[in-house]
Amino acid sequence: MPEKAPTLSTSLHSIKGVGPARADALSAIGIHIVADLLHYYPRKHLDRTTITLISKLQKDKQATVVGNVEAADIRQGKRRQYFQAILSDGKGMLTLTWFNAAQYMKRTIKIGDRLAVSGKVEFFNGFQIVHPEYDKLKDNEDPVNSGLVIPLYSIPAELKKTRIDSRTLRRLIKTISDSLKEIPDHFSMEFKNQNHLCPLDQALRNIHFAESVSVLNEAVNRLKFDEHFFLQMLMALRKSSIQQTGTKALIKIGPQVKLISDSLDFELTSAQKKVIKEIKDDMARPFSMNRLLQGDVGSGKTIVSILVAAIAVANSVQVAVMAPTEILAQQHYQSFKIYAETARMTCAILVGGTPAKERKAILDGLATGRIDIIIGTHALIQEDVAFKELGLAIVDEQHRFGVLQRGDLTGKGFNPHFLAMTATPIPRTLAITYHGDMDLSIIDEMPKDRIPIITKVVEETRLEKIYTFMKEEVKAGRQCMVVYPLVKETEKSDLAAAVEMHGNLSENVFPELIVGLIHGRMKKDDKDEVMDAYARNDIHILVSTTVIEVGIDIPNATVMLIENADRFGLTQLHQLRGRVGRGSKKSYCILVRRNFTENSKKRLQIMESTSDGFVISDEDLKLRGPGEFFGIRQSGFLKYKIADMVTDGPILRKARQSAFELVKSDPNLNQPEHELIRIRFMNEYQDKLDRANIS
Ligand code: ADP
Ligand code: MG
Repeated sequence: MPEKAPTLSTSLHSIKGVGPARADALSAIGIHIVADLLHYYPRKHLDRTTITLISKLQKDKQATVVGNVEAADIRQGKRRQYFQAILSDGKGMLTLTWFNAAQYMKRTIKIGDRLAVSGKVEFFNGFQIVHPEYDKLKDNEDPVNSGLVIPLYSIPAELKKTRIDSRTLRRLIKTISDSLKEIPDHFSMEFKNQNHLCPLDQALRNIHFAESVSVLNEAVNRLKFDEHFFLQMLMALRKSSIQQTGTKALIKIGPQVKLISDSLDFELTSAQKKVIKEIKDDMARPFSMNRLLQGDVGSGKTIVSILVAAIAVANSVQVAVMAPTEILAQQHYQSFKIYAETARMTCAILVGGTPAKERKAILDGLATGRIDIIIGTHALIQEDVAFKELGLAIVDEQHRFGVLQRGDLTGKGFNPHFLAMTATPIPRTLAITYHGDMDLSIIDEMPKDRIPIITKVVEETRLEKIYTFMKEEVKAGRQCMVVYPLVKETEKSDLAAAVEMHGNLSENVFPELIVGLIHGRMKKDDKDEVMDAYARNDIHILVSTTVIEVGIDIPNATVMLIENADRFGLTQLHQLRGRVGRGSKKSYCILVRRNFTENSKKRLQIMESTSDGFVISDEDLKLRGPGEFFGIRQSGFLKYKIADMVTDGPILRKARQSAFELVKSDPNLNQPEHELIRIRFMNEYQDKLDRANIS
């Protein structure tokens, strides 16, 4: 059979020169056809702008160096052998050291090899990189002087087994792409011009083989745009389908809202009034609301949710409020109960530990409509929970539920209005990526009476003084908290650390005070008992793991001491800090630093310098990246290969705008010129679509 020119959908198994073993290995990492291979973007490019000359290296900085191996051998250390190579770029020498697998390294790296190496530069008898990431180059490849751009690929173990490295991949992609016809583009010329995008064909070739850095940048820009665009298509389609979902309009403003408003002993901030109006207007339309309410810790989201719940009740529908932990649900319940009584609404709480008999009565009350407002945890979405008419579903700290779907709670009613609340200020790029199908309401103002919390980063040597200060605060009638972070799995568990800390503090440091302990693995009753005692000031100092992160509201607590603060994300620290300063007294947040890297110092200083949650979350995103941002990995959601949430703000906004415009002009993507967009979208996001109207 004559060899046919490959197309995008040709299987790698049928391409001459790949060989069955390598085709299998590529398949194992998800590269089955030619298109997959073209979309296997380099992890990095070597070019003039990304390579550092050895003479310009700086200690403690990450760097990539290209050079030739001048010497390479096994050396004898005190305990065992290690492998060392000397790399020269003609102007300077760099030592490369591998402490493991010396024999293997000796076989792998030889004098005369040309290498690109990356890692953190140290200074030890000259510049050195320990365990660098390395790639072998061809003898004459010189990206510094030739303007050449060399792609380097991730090479997982599956590929290594068949001895595929960056060089082989390069060769393979080159051969295949040279025989490929022009790659069709899902965007029209006009669209590309509008958004300053290069053709897809060009982008997919140049991402691998660019003749210059500027051409490479065009390719990167185009491919990033595509990734953002298709995710934003998902958001646009979801949003448009939710906006078309009919439901009961909650128009009436009954006496309840006024009764509650009149009973408040404070005035709502203008930010609170603004978001209440946004929510109220949204619920007054006969289409489902899908809204995210963001507001920093202590900005007063609870009263907002109570007032909008009262509007729902005035319209004779029920409200469900779901919180991620029992403590938080309890606290919401306490707040709701007071105002519910004022406004003659009935409310109840349902959690995992609710006794069977009580639970039955509650389920009955929900089914008959006797209960207006139900507060609870996951227990609310159990199968046998049914409502007479659920009109408004509220979820607090939704991202802490893990993979909770909007439908899990709203499915309990006929397309009820939906409000998610979060105290984690989410950077704009993340908000429109993760919650791009929602409307945003933001409380960007704190109640006026708040006294700023004083934050101090300290080292261990200062602890004595701080303990003395805590004793004084307790003597003056106040309370303190000491938080222990989750310690890495290889070390002691967080629980063990907290227990040990509790023992030490109660016996040695504060023998005359009552020191309590609370942690996630305690039974509910025991936890409640501790929290109640703390609320009554029967406990002076409360030691905890991070279970108190959200929720608890003890206005008398004035000192928050956070141990090993460098192990927390900034957003988490900000949340913890929000546990104090809730009353009228001056409060303190002490961050104990036991990690002395520059980075940890820089991070903690941000906490000292600002109390603006949005600034903190932006920094957190920059420092830790989106994967770690929410504390839980939202795995499987983002399929980004090249897009970057931290730096792509402008591209993301453009992609979002054009995706939303497209969905507006062609809501079901059935115009012929959108056929290719529709196909790629369905390939990537069909399963995430819920119930949009395209197929
Ligand atoms: P969060 O947004 O973190 O959920 P809360 O709703 O728990 O904040 O509010 C924190 C505290 O501030 C509560 O004790 C609440 O009663 C109080 N509060 C809410 N709004 C105001 C306001 N406008 N002025 C003064 N205090 C307020
Ligand atoms: Mg709250």
